[in-house]
Amino acid sequence: MDRTQILKEKIADAELVLIGIGEEFNENFGKINQYPSLMKGLEEIDSDESIAWAVPFLEKVYLEKEKESQTVQAYRNLYELVKEKNYFVVTTCIDGHIENAGFNIEKIVEPCGNYGKLQCSEKCCSELYDSTEVAVDIKNRLESSQSLEGIEQPVCPHCGKPMAFNNIVSENYVEEGYLPQWEKYTKWLQGTVNKKLCILEFGAGMQLPGIIRWPFEKVAFYNQKASFFRINEKLYQLTEEIGEKGISIERNACEYLLEELK
Ligand SMILES: [Zn+2]
Repeated sequence: MDRTQILKEKIADAELVLIGIGEEFNENFGKINQYPSLMKGLEEIDSDESIAWAVPFLEKVYLEKEKESQTVQAYRNLYELVKEKNYFVVTTCIDGHIENAGFNIEKIVEPCGNYGKLQCSEKCCSELYDSTEVAVDIKNRLESSQSLEGIEQPVCPHCGKPMAFNNIVSENYVEEGYLPQWEKYTKWLQGTVNKKLCILEFGAGMQLPGIIRWPFEKVAFYNQKASFFRINEKLYQLTEEIGEKGISIERNACEYLLEELK
């Protein structure tokens, strides 16, 4: 039988579906230049170092514009397959695109953070702040051909140091941002013991193997009723321990979702 057919049948038959989204889905911020207003912003930042802090805000504006991208469409195809199931999604992506595909955001954990919140760059505290206001200000300026000159960098209300986005790119990443969801995830995982669990690992390589790849293998190993699918262009190999539970699909996971699971 065709492996995609087996995958669909295993999902249909599963009581629970565990989904991992890895680096094959990472946003390519090099494409910011496709948008003239953003390109102009980057050029202005290039010539004025004092506003270099605004680059990640431009990335946030870019993500907004990419809400209908191919990646989001790939996620939608995945969502259609699992929407009636009891699922949980773990992603190492920081672009937040998966939140736009229909999934219940209570069932998604983003341990590397995203562009939703700001934190103190010095981590003087673990408080988080909404990032929308500054991003909207920058977006409005760029789209009405105004300069970014004089725009104020948001600072921590406690220590006055610059704010940074609450994601793994920040040197002093405040992990409290995702921990409540992580707790829900670990509880959910405990509930998969002895249940028919379908594990779907999409494009998770070796950049952060401790978040998806290794723990998913372990879950598959200990659960006698598990099925495990690893979809990856280069790192598609399965460990021997997974044995007959595992099926490997040698494809870029994003393309696979777009082309085979539409
Ligand atoms: Zn601070």
